[in-house]
Formats: sequence, structure tokens, C-alpha cells
Amino acid sequence: MGFSIETRCQHLADEQSTNSQNSKDHYGAISYPIYQTATFAHPAVGESTGYDYSRLQNPTREHVENVVAALEEGACALAFSSGMAAISALMEMFRPGDHLIVDADLYGGSIRLFEHITRKNGIEFTRVNCNEEELEPFITGRTRAVFIETPTNPMMNVTDIRELANTAKRHGLLLIVDNTFLSPYFQNPLKLGADIVVHSGTKFLGGHNDTIAGFVVTNDEAVGEELRFIIKTTGAGLSPFDSWLILRGIKTLAVRMERAQENAGKLSCWLEEQEIIKKVIYPGLPSHPGYEIMKKQCSGFGTMLTFETESKNAALAILKNVRLISFAESLGGTETLITYPITQTHADVPENVRQKNGITDCILRMSVGIEKIEDIIADLNNAFASIL
Ligand code: PLP
Repeated sequence: MGFSIETRCQHLADEQSTNSQNSKDHYGAISYPIYQTATFAHPAVGESTGYDYSRLQNPTREHVENVVAALEEGACALAFSSGMAAISALMEMFRPGDHLIVDADLYGGSIRLFEHITRKNGIEFTRVNCNEEELEPFITGRTRAVFIETPTNPMMNVTDIRELANTAKRHGLLLIVDNTFLSPYFQNPLKLGADIVVHSGTKFLGGHNDTIAGFVVTNDEAVGEELRFIIKTTGAGLSPFDSWLILRGIKTLAVRMERAQENAGKLSCWLEEQEIIKKVIYPGLPSHPGYEIMKKQCSGFGTMLTFETESKNAALAILKNVRLISFAESLGGTETLITYPITQTHADVPENVRQKNGITDCILRMSVGIEKIEDIIADLNNAFASIL
């Protein structure tokens, strides 16, 4: 692997390509070409250039897959049309009667998928707070996998990946980690013992809120092959142009993550001092219960934070009065966004589950961007003033 991740973000794994046609042979183009084609001509019957039809594979998609595999230090990656397409494809690996243990706090779309689609296909789920509960009592003879996020969306719970991976291995379970919140820049779950990593590439990998994408990365060749079959059959592969947007986004991943993390650290300290804020949940604060685990398993604390206001009215007033910060879903872009999980990302999560996870009408989530931190603070300060 050799190079540091900062360098790998620039020199996008050309040397890793599995197909000789898809290496440095592009007239010296520094920006990887977009192969905007649906199909490929065959030299002769029984011969192929290595690409036949873009649903199966496309050079630009293959390139972004190699890049993401390199960043996660995995053997293979697959690029999907969204994070949810990636997670849906993973669910296709299981059969009726299989049982999965999933983290209690997860992105609302994952909970919706498990509850409304995957369960209908005969797969059972048990929701467990993987950051604080023992897994063993929930494992049955039918359990196949454990699915977590760390930190979780939106409550920022942190799970010890290595410890969970050891438990999963003892019981022959796959450990799947949704690594969207930290990106491969700050956390590499495969190195900590996870079997499969998922990303919403829409977020930090793309980095500019201009495209939707998803990735699965693994070191397990059998899993890689099965997913390759699923992508070819269900047709959820990432388009050439979107693959290119992700390639372009990755070039600045390191600098974006560093700058936004610095902002998030400063913002979390400032928020802690504000009277109308009851609680700040940022895993880079020593007060966060997952702080020590984060220091052990990540190279940074990330750019996401959640806070609790003193009342629903305060939360609504903040959303109404921010000007620079956009009230919008999603995260991981260069702009600072503020989200109201109860009506946005987690609106479809059953009320009792939301309550249990602490997602109340006083909870706001922020994806801190790369603006000047003083401007972000001034904007929030103005919004807070409207409450008093
Ligand atoms: N995983 C996490 C942690 C997310 O936050 C999201 C979306 O917000 C997804 C997966 C789904 O990704 P996408 O919106 O690209 O389908």
C-alpha cells in the first residue's frame, strides 16, 4: 500500500486496476476519463475488451471502485447508485429465515429498509445497542451478520469495532460497518476486523452535495463475487459521470476532512457554553462516552455533531433563523448543514424506536463544513438570539 492516505487521494490507484486497458493508457489525462457509453464492441466472437455492457462494469466505475478499495485498504469495492442501493444489495446476500443483529441507532433509511423491505423477504432483525449491550444473548443459530454504524446517525454512539469483530468471528457472523460518518480518511473498519464496509458516497467521498452514490468494500472474495453478481443482475451500479464526480471529490477528501473536523471541534466547545443547549454530542469531546474508543480506533473525530436544545420551540427557531447554514438533509459536503432528524432523516422510524434512541423534537444534527468557523458561530449566535 505504501503511500499515506493523503497521497492515495491524489494518485487514484491507477496501478491497482485489474484491467490493463484501464490503467495509465488515457493519452496522459490527469483527470480520469468518463466512459459515457452503455455498451462496448467485441473484437470477435468470444473476445472482449474487458468491458461488455455498463450495467456489468464500466472503466470509470471500475476506477472509482479501485480507488475506494485502496482508501479502505480492502481487496475489492463495488460502486452503487446510492448508499441505500449498496445496503439493499448487501441484504440480497441473506435468505429467508436468516437473522441479523442491527444497531439500535442507525440512519433512518437503513431502519426503513430493514423494517419494510428486508423483513418482508423473510429476514429477521434484532435491534441492539451495540455500544453498550453484550451481543451474545441475541445470537441464535440463524444469526448471520451484525450491522452497525460508529458513530451512529444521529446520536453519535460509538462502538468498539475490534471487540465486536472478535465476538462476530467467534460466532461465524459477518460484521458490516457503515463507515459513512468518518469516511476512510478517519476510520478503516476492515483493519479493525470488520468483514464489510458500507459508505454513502453521497457524503464525504463525493464531498460537494452534488451527487448520490454508495460503496461496499470487503476483503472477502466470496462476498465480493456475490455482490458483483447482484450488481450485474439488479442493475444498481454507479453511472460513469457520477463515478467521475466521486473521483473528483476524493481528491480533496483529506483537506476537507481536516478543515471541517477543526471547525467541528471548535463549534462543539462553543455550543457547550451556550445556555439554551442542554447537551452537545460530539465524539471529540472528552465528555463523550465513546471518546477513548474513538482515540483508539480512528485517526480523527469527524465533522458531525448533534445537540439538544432546551425546547422544541428553540429547535424550530434555530432552523428558521439560520442564514449561512442551510436547513437541509444530508452531510459530508463543504457547506455546513443543520438537520432536524425527527422530521427528516428519521421521520419514517417508528415513534417508540425514536424515543428509545433519544431522537426527540429537541435534537438537531449538524454536518460542519469548511467555512470560516467564526462565520458559522455568528450565524448560530444570531439564530440563538431569536429564541431569547
Ligand atoms: N448510511 C448513512 C449513515 C447515512 O447517513 C445515509 C444517508 O444519509 C445512508 C447510509 C444512505 O445513503 P444515500 O443517501 O446515499 O442512499
